[in-house]
Amino acid sequence: MSIYFDKTMRLKELISADLINELFQSMANLYKVHLKVFDEQDTLVYQVAFESGNFCQLIFLDLNGQKACTRKVSEVKISKPLGESAEVHNCFSGLRYMVQPIYYQGEYLGRIIIGPYWPKELSAKPKPMSFMQAGFDFENLKAQVNTHKTFSQGQIDLIIKHIITVLDILFHASHKSWLTSKMHLESISASYKELESKNKMLEESIERMKEIDKLKSNFLATMSHELRTPLTSIIGYAEMLVEQVSGELNALQKTYSSNIIEKGENLLSMINAVLEISRNESQTLTMNKVTADVVELVQNAVSTVFPQAQKKNISLKTYVDENLPPCKLDKERMNQALVNLLSNSAKFTQNGGIVSIHAFASREPVKQNSGNSARFFDGKEPYICISVTDNGIGIPEEHLDKIFYSFYQVDNNQTRNFGGAGIGLAVVKAFVEAHRGFCKVESKVQKGSKFSLFLPIER
Ligand code: ADP
Repeated sequence: MSIYFDKTMRLKELISADLINELFQSMANLYKVHLKVFDEQDTLVYQVAFESGNFCQLIFLDLNGQKACTRKVSEVKISKPLGESAEVHNCFSGLRYMVQPIYYQGEYLGRIIIGPYWPKELSAKPKPMSFMQAGFDFENLKAQVNTHKTFSQGQIDLIIKHIITVLDILFHASHKSWLTSKMHLESISASYKELESKNKMLEESIERMKEIDKLKSNFLATMSHELRTPLTSIIGYAEMLVEQVSGELNALQKTYSSNIIEKGENLLSMINAVLEISRNESQTLTMNKVTADVVELVQNAVSTVFPQAQKKNISLKTYVDENLPPCKLDKERMNQALVNLLSNSAKFTQNGGIVSIHAFASREPVKQNSGNSARFFDGKEPYICISVTDNGIGIPEEHLDKIFYSFYQVDNNQTRNFGGAGIGLAVVKAFVEAHRGFCKVESKVQKGSKFSLFLPIER
């Protein structure tokens, strides 16, 4: 048995109150019979009573009659036939009620009370009522008997059969849609529950990821810090060797020692970069801001990258708005950010390509995509925009949102053509964000890329 069938059926769920009204009204009109319908919870859901004249009212006017009548009516009202067939209830007056239970698929849904009516076989209407108070006008009551209709048992059986058959057909039709709606509801609530539990799992995973991310940042910060000290002394000793403080070196020994210094310094700058990124993530990266000339800043970065560009015959072009206002920046860090962008452009552009750097003031609304989620800046705040454009290999669209993550590289095969560790852009992002700015990237594969840094103008 499916779970849908386990639910208790209710009369009003199977057929609407309107349908119950319509059905019993038409049955009552057709047979001119009094009808009352109670549901499975003994609530009266329908009643129709025809003009019953003075007969019952006359009995009710008598105190003893009233008591007997009330007793009878309540007995009929609360009676629940044991089986599925109708139960007869005779009134002391000779009138009769029939109580027909309503069942569907073996489940009790309520009952119909038919009556009062005169049973055809009754010889004297009404029956003598000796318990009435003295002075009760029995002859007057007798004159009112025709206000109730007379039915033979056969007629009543037919009426009941008719009602039950119609109810059965209605139940059948409604049950189908009832089941469908229940199944629909069940499936919605099952999906909702599933969604809820998935949501919870997702929330827990996010929390765990945040914790892991924090641990990772702490780990990187500590490791970088701890690695710096021995590395600085390795470089120091190598420098002493090259300077021949402890004795003369032959040419090869000198070359090897110089290599140690060069590689050691590369490693040191990578460690420093990781340290800066993790500081930015833990919001402990502080900027050393001074009033800076953007023209000078750009020229310094260009001259640093010049030898790298020259090796590939790449032309470096500079377009700086001469009227740019001076702005408070961490010169060293922003220089590093521009060098990173320019050297990436030189690295990812073919021989003979063009790399250009532009600097201008901007109030344009822009969409940034250097963060975890893209958002718009409304352009109300004035920014200095420094952009680096190349006509190199470009970046496929699906990578654009991720290239600012630390250690993320578009081509991360061991055999990739370009060197690098994937931290250059993360450093750029860290420095720009520490200036309350943001980065933007636009790129087309085989056409080129444009990286823009927006820095709020701070005087
Ligand atoms: P890397 O050390 O690998 O250059 P970055 O963080 O600087 O690390 O850059 C991350 C990745 O973004 C690069 O590996 C490359 O795939 C892509 N990228 C960065 N700049 C450019 C560019 N100008 N043109 C094409 N791809 C670029």
